Formats: sequence, C-alpha cells, structure tokens
Amino acid sequence: MSEKINFQAEVNKMLGIVINSLYSEKYIFLRELVSNASDACDKLKYLQLTTPDIAKGNGELKITITPNDKENTLTVADNGIGMNKEDLISHLGTIAKSGTADFVANMKENGSPADLIGQFGVGFYSAFMVAKKVEILTRKAGEEQAWRWVSDGADGFEISEAEKTGIGTEIKLFLKDDDKNFTDTIYLRHLIRTYSDHINYPIVLNLGEAGEETVNSASALWTRNKAEITVEQYRDFYRHISHNFDDPWMTLHFKAEGSIEYTALLYIPSTQPYDLFQPDKKQGLKLYVNRVFISDKVEELMPNYLRFVKGIVDSSDLPLNISREMLQQNALVAKIRHGIVGRLLKELKKKSENYEDYLKFWQNFGTAFKEGIYEDFGNREEVAALSLFASTADKEKLTTLDQYVARMKEDQKSIYYITGDDVKVLANNPQLEAFKQKELEVLLLTDPIDEFWTQALATYKGKAVKHVSQADADLSFERKEPRAEAGNLEKLTKMMADMFKDEVGKVEVTEKLTASPVSLTVESGQMSIHLERLMRNHQQQTAFASTRILEINPYHPLIIKLSETMEDTALRPKTEEVARILLDQAKIAEGEPIADPSFYAAKVSDYILKSF
Ligand code: ADP
Ligand code: MG
Repeated sequence: MSEKINFQAEVNKMLGIVINSLYSEKYIFLRELVSNASDACDKLKYLQLTTPDIAKGNGELKITITPNDKENTLTVADNGIGMNKEDLISHLGTIAKSGTADFVANMKENGSPADLIGQFGVGFYSAFMVAKKVEILTRKAGEEQAWRWVSDGADGFEISEAEKTGIGTEIKLFLKDDDKNFTDTIYLRHLIRTYSDHINYPIVLNLGEAGEETVNSASALWTRNKAEITVEQYRDFYRHISHNFDDPWMTLHFKAEGSIEYTALLYIPSTQPYDLFQPDKKQGLKLYVNRVFISDKVEELMPNYLRFVKGIVDSSDLPLNISREMLQQNALVAKIRHGIVGRLLKELKKKSENYEDYLKFWQNFGTAFKEGIYEDFGNREEVAALSLFASTADKEKLTTLDQYVARMKEDQKSIYYITGDDVKVLANNPQLEAFKQKELEVLLLTDPIDEFWTQALATYKGKAVKHVSQADADLSFERKEPRAEAGNLEKLTKMMADMFKDEVGKVEVTEKLTASPVSLTVESGQMSIHLERLMRNHQQQTAFASTRILEINPYHPLIIKLSETMEDTALRPKTEEVARILLDQAKIAEGEPIADPSFYAAKVSDYILKSF
C-alpha cells in the first residue's frame, strides 16, 4: 500500500529554483548527502549514550557510496539514526525550517545560489539536480518498520511500508542521462577527497567485485596536528559545519590546557549571513565531548555579540551525558566560553593591524560585534578597542578609539560622538560647527546599536565618552563678529518659545553655532533625537519624548535681523513667518519631519525668487 503525498507549495517552488539554477555546481549534491549521513551517524552515537542497546549489531558507523553504471544509479547509505514515516514526511516534504521560505525569496534578489543552498538548509533537495528519481529506504533506530520514499521531484512523493535489515538510510539516485559521470569511481573518489575528507566517519566507496575502499581520512580534523592540516581541509570543514559556501575570513585552532582542557576550532565567515539580525535564530558552536558529538548550536559557548562565529569545541573534562539544561549552569562551560572569547579577541587584535583586511570583517559583522561593548562587561574596553567608527577626522578611513585618543587636543577632555541616520548628513549637522571651529574630532555614528553602547561606555582609557550635546567646557572660543543686542535677543527668544510651545520645550541662545542660525537638540542626558526616531519607527515610543531645545545663534545675521524687527508691529507677521521657517530648517537638519512641508516649500521658493 503506498500513499501519495504532495510537496508543500514552497518545496515545489524551491525545487524548481534549485534544479534550474545550480546547474554549474551539480556535484554539491554529494557533499550534502554525505553531510546528512554524517549527521545521522552523530545522532545515533548520541542516542547510544543513554540507550546503549538501541543499535545492537549495527557495526561501525560509516557511510557507503555505491555507483552502478549499468543501472546508472548512485546510492549513498549510512547506518545512522534512520527515519520513520513522520520524519520522512516532515523533513523531506515540507519546509520545516522557516529559513527555506526565506531562501526562495532571497534567491530572486541575490547572487550566487550556491552560497545560499546550505545556509537555508535545502541540502537534500539538491539530489534532484542530478536525479530524475530518488528512492529512499530507511529504518529508524529502535523501530522495526522500514519505509520507502520515492519521488521524481515534480510535485510529490510516495511513501510505503518496506523491509530493511539494519537501521539507517539508503538514498538511491536514478541519475539523469547527462549525469552519468557520477558513477565514475575516479571522479567520485576525487569529489569525496575534495569536499568530504573531514567527515568523522569512514566514507567507503563500494566497487562491487573489486571490494570496498575507504576514501577519506575519517579522523576528527580538530584532533590532528595543525601543521598537517591544509588550508583546503580547514575550509571544507568550515563549509561542512557552517553550511556556508564561502571561505573563512579567519580560522582559529587551538588547544587549551590548564584548569580545563579543550580544543576549539573556530571560524569567522567572509560573508554576512542573511539572518545575523534575526533574534529568534539559534546560533552557537557544536559541542563534542571526547570526539562524541553532543549538541549543535550551543549558545552557552559563545556570547551573543559573537554569534557569527562558527566552529566546534571538544572537551574531555565535560561529562558525556551533559544535557542542554546542564549546559546552561555548568561552570566549566562558562570557563570555556571565557577562554574562547579571550582568544578570539586576541586574534582579532592581530588581524586588525591590516586595515583593508579587517575592514571586510567589520563591514560584515561590526554592527553585531559592537553589541559586546554593553553586553560583555568584562571585555568592554577590548571590544571597544577593536571597533571601527566613521569620524570627522578622516573621511576615507574608519578610525579606532585609540587612534582618536592619540589625535585628541592637549586640553580636550572627552571623546565626542553624534548619532544619526547617515554619515554625510551628520558631518554637516549644525551641532558640529563649534567642533569644526576648534578642530575637535567627532565620531559619526549611524547604527541603531550605537545609541546603546554609548550609554554603557562612560569612559574609554580614562576619557569620558560624550554626545556632542553634552560638550561644554571644550567648546568655548573667542568670537569677534557682531552679536545681537542682549535685550532684543531675550525678547526674540521669548517670542519664539511662545510661538513654538507645542513643538519645542525651550528656546535658548547658544555660543556653539557658527554657520547656522538655529539648531535642534535635547536636554543634556535625555534620549537623543535619533534614538527617539528609531523607537518611533518601531512603534515603541510616543509617551516620553525628550525635551527639544531650539538653539539660536546670536552671531548669525538672520537672528540679529529678527531680533531688531520683532518690535516693529508692521513687520511682525514677516518676523513670525521667518521664525517658523527657521524652526523647520532646524528640524530638517536633524532628519525630523516638519509640520507643514508645503508651507515651507512655498515660502522658500518665494524668498529665493525675491533674491534674484
Ligand atoms: P539539513 O541537513 O540542513 O537539516 P537537509 O535538507 O539536508 O537539511 O535535510 C533535511 C532533514 O532530513 C535533516 O535535518 C534530517 O532530519 C533528515 N535527513 C536527511 N538525510 C538523512 C539521513 N541520511 N538520515 C537521517 N535523516 C536524514
Ligand atoms: Mg543537510
């Protein structure tokens, strides 16, 4: 009795894309099937820790590849965990992982599909690039009933009861006529050595009458001597565990000895994963205890701001039967994490000496990495020291805080920054005019995360870290130009405060502006306008708006003029109109919306026309 089940619509869509667009890299299907077989062996090994009898007589765990050039088939078999009916339906017929739906959407927009296939977990379906039909025979550990799953990759699959002696899975590909080369043993041997050498289990090539041949080295890569591991082997292992297709930007392999012993093999990718900022996405390292695979994505081994780091940790000091709950409280795990983070930061420090190379890392992961400045209390300064920022000092290159400190003026007390949406716009913000005048450098911060770490890092190397609106002592400078008369100025401030009482909390005279007549800021210590805007965009905030301050520049000819005309009743309407335009200008410079854009536009056109 066989049952016909349709693929979920998304699977169909994805199959179409996978089959038609990965054409030039067809061989990756083998890597994917071997990788799944290896995962299945890992899972069985883990199950055996608690249920030793689950796979009696199963023999050594291995992966067997059998080509048959007469039938034109290729079979990838393992004696791992196997699948039951439910597994087959849910893993190989629907999109269990939300990632795969993203895959379909993403693929349309972005470049190379090969980079995406592993990332989105469409591994198994790649079999249909070379197969016109796929037949799976599988039996799950601990169950008697075996199952057959057959599909031509068109719109569904058939499932029926079957018989199978041992546990595990056999995946038989009926190759397309064009793909006969995948029965060629020389080619297969080459593919396995190239892409799957690092697999922990023997990969055996079944040559029929000529016997069996183990093709890979089948020893855990991280246990080997560093000197004997090639760059390619490191890379392939990275691709295997990360499901990525890129080359690692950084590889760090070390053995820690002392109070706790462990080996770590860690990688930083050279491309940004699509889900770096998806908070629900599980990240983390693979954990092995004495080369026995324990768990995937162990978040406890890596702080959140380093979530892009891929790799494995193997320790013989942890108990084999460690459970997920135990991982959370285990003091040894915390110690390992501490050790790993220290090594990673040290390695990043070395890498940061090459600016061009380090910039690649920074562009991919900098925004996540900066979270460490407030998240990792113990390493706060180290993380800050490894961060790069745009600054008014150098338009071409990003700066480090140490470089900033080295450039500080002799009497400069603080490190200054301003936050906003765009570096170029920020560089022209009126709030920076006095800084330009005094040649004080300002960091131009445009990531949402910058609003948060700047709150956490009160000082760096003994220097206060301050928003430009909080600068005072550093900013006074001698003014030579004429200033509006004090009495008039007071009246003007009062008039504007009355006029704009619904939009700003205060109107104040400032000594900090040079080119601009006005500028908008907030009360010292309150949430910045940029942060408020970010929160508003996320619908998080309406209630506690910071007190806006409209600063006016008493040296600006426009302000001087207004302060003189405001007493003249005949000119009063015009004075108020100009004041309104000035407030709008201040808002625009801050990236804030203005009350009546068409009024503003009409008036500005008017004034321009009159000036011709
Ligand atoms: P991924 O490996 O990223 O989970 P795949 O498409 O490669 O995605 O595989 C989907 C799922 O099918 C696997 O997670 C696993 O549960 C199941 N699977 C595939 N191949 C095997 C196998 N040889 N043995 C047991 N389960 C398998
Ligand atoms: Mg897979």
